[in-house]
Amino acid sequence: MISNLADGVDTFTSNAFLVAGDRPTLVDTGANFDAVAAVEERGIEPERIVLTHTHPDHVGNLGALREAFDPEVLAYDPDAGDGELDDGEALAIGDHDYEVLYTPGHKDDHVCLYAPKPGICFAGDLVFERGFGRTDLPEGDRATLVESIDRLADRVGPDLRELHPGHGPSVTDDPSGTIELAGRMARQ
Ligand SMILES: [Zn+2]
Repeated sequence: MISNLADGVDTFTSNAFLVAGDRPTLVDTGANFDAVAAVEERGIEPERIVLTHTHPDHVGNLGALREAFDPEVLAYDPDAGDGELDDGEALAIGDHDYEVLYTPGHKDDHVCLYAPKPGICFAGDLVFERGFGRTDLPEGDRATLVESIDRLADRVGPDLRELHPGHGPSVTDDPSGTIELAGRMARQ
């Protein structure tokens, strides 16, 4: 089960996906809302927090969550967590094995997480339901972003079932097509 702690939250925040299962994990923390209370409401304590990247809207609640639940924090940026994520690494999240895909272009430390077996992808700020991550911030680069979207599209193929972006709604209706559309839009 995947639950977005930021559902119904009306502040400047990313999504924050709490994944239940053998390895209860939070993908991104969100910002500017009480994520500890949101976790407690759901009754699932995250053992781990995995960061898609370290923009403030994705990590703002990290301090409070660390204090409350003492999770292991994993990020591509070696200075951001307790452990470093590497491209191609396998990572248990919930009940499934995810692959770490290094996908820069929006930010230098950006990763997507993909579980082939159930066909689930956490996309951070690479692609959204209708669009792609901004590239006008520091470390942003459009050509690199396009390469990363192509890489994600190649990896997930046509069989993706759930796409969970860092902002906006999750996509279950043709998520592979959503990634391809983002790639076309980012080229314009
Ligand atoms: Zn971002």
